Amino acid sequence: MKGLEILRDRKLASALVRNIKLPGTEELVLMEVCGSHTTAVHRYGIPSLLPPGIKLVSGPGCPVCVTGIEYVDRAIGLAEDPDNIIVTYGDMIRVPGTHTNLENMRTEGADIRIISSPLESLDLAEKNRTKKIVFLAVGFETTAPGTAITIIQAADRKIDNFFIHCAHKIMPPALRALAEGDSVIDGLIAPGHVSAITGSSIYEFLPAEFSMGCVISGFEPVDILQSVSMLAAQKADNRPRVEIQYSRAVPPEGNVKAQKLMYEVFRTADQNWRGLGLIKASGLMLKDKYAMFDASGLPVKNKVISSEPGGCRCGDIMKGLIGPRECPLFGKVCSPSNPVGACMVSGEGACSAVYRYDTPVHHKS
Ligand code: SF4
Repeated sequence: MKGLEILRDRKLASALVRNIKLPGTEELVLMEVCGSHTTAVHRYGIPSLLPPGIKLVSGPGCPVCVTGIEYVDRAIGLAEDPDNIIVTYGDMIRVPGTHTNLENMRTEGADIRIISSPLESLDLAEKNRTKKIVFLAVGFETTAPGTAITIIQAADRKIDNFFIHCAHKIMPPALRALAEGDSVIDGLIAPGHVSAITGSSIYEFLPAEFSMGCVISGFEPVDILQSVSMLAAQKADNRPRVEIQYSRAVPPEGNVKAQKLMYEVFRTADQNWRGLGLIKASGLMLKDKYAMFDASGLPVKNKVISSEPGGCRCGDIMKGLIGPRECPLFGKVCSPSNPVGACMVSGEGACSAVYRYDTPVHHKS
């Protein structure tokens, strides 16, 4: 057996589960903070494999889910202007704004294009000189370097009709907010993709200040189960620390080149996270040198007073306080074909993952 086969091997997975060292506390609550982990956890039915007493919860790791509603409303406002072409990753177009979403706007004639790389925006800008091309720049340290390269290239190619509507976020301040808040989290299954860029040192404050263990995990079932086992062992031994399970992709120092690119273009700024509120220095905004690419100065005709959808519990879900099935709207009025909140839109959202794979979110003790 090699590669993926090993990482999906049932016998190995069962052996890992058998060897999980239970810490002796009533319940061990572990949070994953990565949309890809959310999907993998539910796709592979990880909660049902775990021994009683270990609970997995999803945190604020799905980029679309954490993007604030006022950001979506402004994107919709920009799409209303026929002089603008909006370019975005696919998931964003179905995220509900206060009154509508970008998908409806597109049906009504707005020019909204789905792209897989922000660099595609630059060709579009060169081909449509009379239009303003606005890229919806969302996501964490994983996608921010790609936006940074695009900005640098836009400057090099002297493109003056390209802009970003920026809501990039960085993980450490949100983790600090969670650790300081109401959530009861014993350990963190840290995101593999973000960590491949940042390295492991960004998590050191969690064991040092909050006694919270942290394991950077891969995305296959064996990766996740091994990470759970490592976190349980940390708790049982009362030695919280940062460990890298996903060592095949995450060097301790991360991707230094990508980090440099990111901070060549961006500086940190306060940012609003859906459900978590305004978190100090948790976002990225363009440095003055690149401010000409900032879409925040572009006019929007119809200003909307943003408000979250009534009854939606996305915020509590992303803090790990409740599971999706505890939202009264789950599966009744809210489903992937009719999402009320952002967590039901993207395949990486906790509500969507639980709905699609029909998993109990919390292991039944
Ligand atoms: Fe929001 Fe729907 Fe999830 Fe409830 S089920 S928290 S309404 S996204």
